[in-house]
Amino acid sequence: MESIINYFETIPSSHRSLILVGGITFFWLIEYAMPLFKFNYKKFKHAWPNIFFTLTTIIINFVLAFILLKTSDWTVANQFGVLQWLALPLWVTIILGIALLDLIGAWLAHYVQHIVKPLWMFHLIHHTDNHVDTTTANRHHPGESVIRFLFTTLAVFIVGAPIGIIMLYQSLSVVLSQFNHANISLPKKVDDMISWIIVSPDMHKVHHHYVLPYTDTNYGNIFSIWDRIFGTFAKIRNEDLIYGVDTYPDVDSNANVGKLLKLPFSGYRAPTGAKFESEKS
Ligand SMILES: [Zn+2]
Repeated sequence: MESIINYFETIPSSHRSLILVGGITFFWLIEYAMPLFKFNYKKFKHAWPNIFFTLTTIIINFVLAFILLKTSDWTVANQFGVLQWLALPLWVTIILGIALLDLIGAWLAHYVQHIVKPLWMFHLIHHTDNHVDTTTANRHHPGESVIRFLFTTLAVFIVGAPIGIIMLYQSLSVVLSQFNHANISLPKKVDDMISWIIVSPDMHKVHHHYVLPYTDTNYGNIFSIWDRIFGTFAKIRNEDLIYGVDTYPDVDSNANVGKLLKLPFSGYRAPTGAKFESEKS
């Protein structure tokens, strides 16, 4: 345990990049082997806007990283925050730390972006993907990347998380997000079983169904417990899934980086619930 934390305390940027690229490559290959849907799409062409938004997310997090570091150092130096007050054994501190960072930095950040309309306009870009796969994980408008960074900073402040736990959390968060967005089909029983602890692929896909109320469920990223506690857990049959958002059905626009960058400033559209043709074949 201690050696894991020591490693993440000083994890080089190259290793963090390797985790991100390695994760996408790993799940990309599994998507060929056992796809959930046989999309009628060009995999590389589809990946381009998502990789663009993954790069902007990396740059924003890299530029702002010093704020996280300063916040973490301050909480440890001043013994401020949940983990600092409790002083639990190391393994409990690590699990509780990751769980609380997941709650505030991911679940709450995600929930608020669905509730507050101006924030939804940024998060919308993530939902406009009509072919959800592992590359969708970090399809975040730069505005959303900043919003999520602010929530992560708030989480570090409240949790009193040392930098080793933050880096471990962020690495897990990236890989788990790639996993639960991946277009893969696990045996139903396995998916159901793991969804009692972590967010499984079938669980997160419900969130990408094109219409309410499903879009406003299953906000979790690492742990599924938060949706179960806060009553936002939902299920839908995989065969009924249609990816995207009812208000933005144009598949070509949803793959256009320029249009997606401008989308948050184009005015809010109320949900319609109207059906549109899925690109699924
Ligand atoms: Zn969402």
